[in-house]
Amino acid sequence: MRPSQSPDVVIIGGGIIGCSIGLRLAQAKMKVTVVDRGQPGGEASSAAAGMLAPQGETVTPDAYFELARSSRDLYPSFVAEVEELSGQTVGYRCGGTLLVARSDQEVRELDAVFSGQTAYGLPLERLTADAARARVPALAPEIRSALFIAGDHSVDNEKLTAALAEAALRAGVKFHSRAAVTRFHARGRPASASRRIESIELAPGTTVKGKKLSAASFILAAGCWSAELVAPLGVRLPMSPCRGQMIEFESAGEAEIPLVVRAGHHYLVPREGGRVLAGTTAEYAGFDKAVTGEGLASILEGVRRLAPAVKHSRFRRAWAGLRPDTADHLPVLGCGEIKNLIFATGHFRNGILLAPITAQVITELILMGSTSLSIAAYGPARFC
Ligand SMILES: Cc1cc2nc3c(=O)[nH]c(=O)nc-3n(C[C@H](O)[C@H](O)[C@H](O)COP(=O)(O)OP(=O)(O)OC[C@H]3O[C@@H](n4cnc5c(N)ncnc54)[C@H](O)[C@@H]3O)c2cc1C
Repeated sequence: MRPSQSPDVVIIGGGIIGCSIGLRLAQAKMKVTVVDRGQPGGEASSAAAGMLAPQGETVTPDAYFELARSSRDLYPSFVAEVEELSGQTVGYRCGGTLLVARSDQEVRELDAVFSGQTAYGLPLERLTADAARARVPALAPEIRSALFIAGDHSVDNEKLTAALAEAALRAGVKFHSRAAVTRFHARGRPASASRRIESIELAPGTTVKGKKLSAASFILAAGCWSAELVAPLGVRLPMSPCRGQMIEFESAGEAEIPLVVRAGHHYLVPREGGRVLAGTTAEYAGFDKAVTGEGLASILEGVRRLAPAVKHSRFRRAWAGLRPDTADHLPVLGCGEIKNLIFATGHFRNGILLAPITAQVITELILMGSTSLSIAAYGPARFC
């Protein structure tokens, strides 16, 4: 039997996904505990660029695009609510996104994006190089054409994750930081319908009394560390960390970037206070978060090709984070064989964008046992 003071739900991982779900469940009057082996928001959720860009990622819209678009549509009210609850601002910017083409190949790629999305009824604008430069004067002279997507926005994900944690705390969520989950304790035979998670065990040195936490339900939101946690339960989750490196500049005057500018995985994202982020790399180098010379050189080459003046701006800092990638690059949402273990992980390059919709569907699943939007395609059983 569960001790009466046990939470209803324990969330493993206090990144943007864990904090968003925690907030929604607490608002639904559930007793929620979030455990994180570091500080909430200390991993990918702070390392990201904060682009909320489903259209910028899509040639031919599909079901995954619809999930991402639903989340983008939730963003204005999500941000307003989190800002009000936390008393913090989160740097939400609605200036749109400019996709630029520098070569014949990239011009053809943007043409395909334009045709695919207009056929689907999505708004986006085709711009000549001069028209693009009128919006972003710092653009490189080699830019040949561009697409302007008014609906793809951005947010300061570092601020948003901190504000979410504060909002969740104020809503009653209990946080245990520096509390690494080491294993799940399950009851019932593997593959039997009655199999359940009874508790999680925490690493020695953790301040949680008894080093074990019981709950009615457990949510796995441990980013790219999720797979190793469920492997001992016999759950196969093919996930790999995908390292992304980033540089932050102070950019002003002729190097000013007023809106997100992007070509493939090279991009520039403006932030408050005259800052601009330049990204990124996509490297499969294990759980190593090193910033490397080669990574920085490749980002700087991207900057040179997008807006060379930014390269001459004052350097502020560089960092790397690990995107939780899956074998099919899609998130893992919902439950598998063990009905009280719910997955909310594997958001790869879009976890900031997908946070509001993930929180919505996982909360619905816990409260009602079903979701308003189908998540059947994202269940963990697809990897069995
Ligand atoms: C360089 C870069 C750029 C990106 N840009 C964008 C972007 O522009 N837009 C976008 O939408 N997405 C972007 N992403 C992706 C986005 O950052 C991720 O998809 C998202 O942050 C995943 O959130 P999460 O909460 O699942 O994981 P995380 O933020 O990694 O959080 C997982 C948490 O689990 C905790 N944890 C792990 N193991 C344990 C354990 N055993 N016990 C307890 N706690 C544990 C960790 O400490 C961590 O805090 C980017 C990522 C990177 C790296």
